[in-house]
Amino acid sequence: MPHTNRAWIELNPTALADNLSLLAARLPAGCRLMPAIKANAYGHGATQMAGLLCAAGIDAFCVASAEEGAQLRSAGVDGQILVLGYTHPDQFCLLHQYSLTQSVVDADFAAQLSAFGAPLCVHLCVDTGMHRLGFSWQDIDPLRQVFALKNLQVTGMFTHLSSADGTTPSAIAFTHTQSDRFWALVRRLRSDDLNTGAVHLLNSAGLLRYPWLGGDFARVGIALYGLFSTEAERNAASAKLRPVLSLYARVASVRTLCAGEGAGYALAYNPGEERRIAALSIGYADGLPRSLSGGVGRVLLHGQFAPIVGRVCMDQTLVDVTGIPNLHPGDIATLIGQEGTQTLHAETLASQAGTITNEIVSCLGQRLDRVVADCPRPAQTG
Ligand SMILES: *Cc1c(COP(=O)(O)O)cnc(C)c1O
Repeated sequence: MPHTNRAWIELNPTALADNLSLLAARLPAGCRLMPAIKANAYGHGATQMAGLLCAAGIDAFCVASAEEGAQLRSAGVDGQILVLGYTHPDQFCLLHQYSLTQSVVDADFAAQLSAFGAPLCVHLCVDTGMHRLGFSWQDIDPLRQVFALKNLQVTGMFTHLSSADGTTPSAIAFTHTQSDRFWALVRRLRSDDLNTGAVHLLNSAGLLRYPWLGGDFARVGIALYGLFSTEAERNAASAKLRPVLSLYARVASVRTLCAGEGAGYALAYNPGEERRIAALSIGYADGLPRSLSGGVGRVLLHGQFAPIVGRVCMDQTLVDVTGIPNLHPGDIATLIGQEGTQTLHAETLASQAGTITNEIVSCLGQRLDRVVADCPRPAQTG
């Protein structure tokens, strides 16, 4: 049944299951999936996604912050939860209370974390050339010293690939360089009889394009949601990933714009002839980029494309519906997803907005309900 809200996100559990099996089939031997469900599961809804993933047997997750980890635990997730990003000392208590695994990025942070006093599990984050977070791959002693800290138990070690999605010879060479640096370090620590625990380096692009780089976990984010960062990647990909998320909004009103009249802020839409326009109950506060204003973006209504006109507002968006008959308040517009034979990919929206798909979905707003579909949404009739 269509949802009653003004605008909402629908999750397709069949698409998710298909993506999981497609990705699982590409895992190197001994490697498991550790879905990245940070940023509210890339906007999909962290608790909804965690529920579906737990039901599918996934038992390891990564998030960006201790608060995100605590939220998952409170929602009943009992697998391993790795916090990839920074945690302030005032929040170390969350790590302990919710049994979260924290990444440690340098010697000072490791010492601070150990000084908290409670036993904590950690994964060592190694910088193999991305230069964002982590211990330098060139400097083994600070890493060795973490194993000696009283309250920290090292249960894993990882690095992040900066260029696994790149297709240039230098991007490919750099991905191999990062992997070589990482595995050399793992071997050296193990030759000192240090137990590195689970080691991991693959993200989505890593798993899809370099599965042989190995590891115990693949930290898949974007691919799991059936998305590619760009349209070009979707077109080039051999993997048939299916988008999990659709975005819908209700038509709030339909009216005729007479010749000479303008619509929306600054009357920015002034076509100079009679048109039919509709107001949709979704705006930039819901994550619909304002840069789609003025005919850049479009939506699907009754199976036809309608351009976004005028300026996208905080809570509303105008579309030109001339030529789409029998449109009424309460009708459903598709902003991302499939309607009949037509599809609006999140990748297309990202390209129109001048960004990547990851930013589009992760910025989808808190006002949108996230509902899990029981079955595909019935076709809408005019
Ligand atoms: C976000 C993130 C991932 C997931 O990346 P995708 O490209 O979405 O698969 C993996 N590892 C780290 C450290 C991350 O920050």
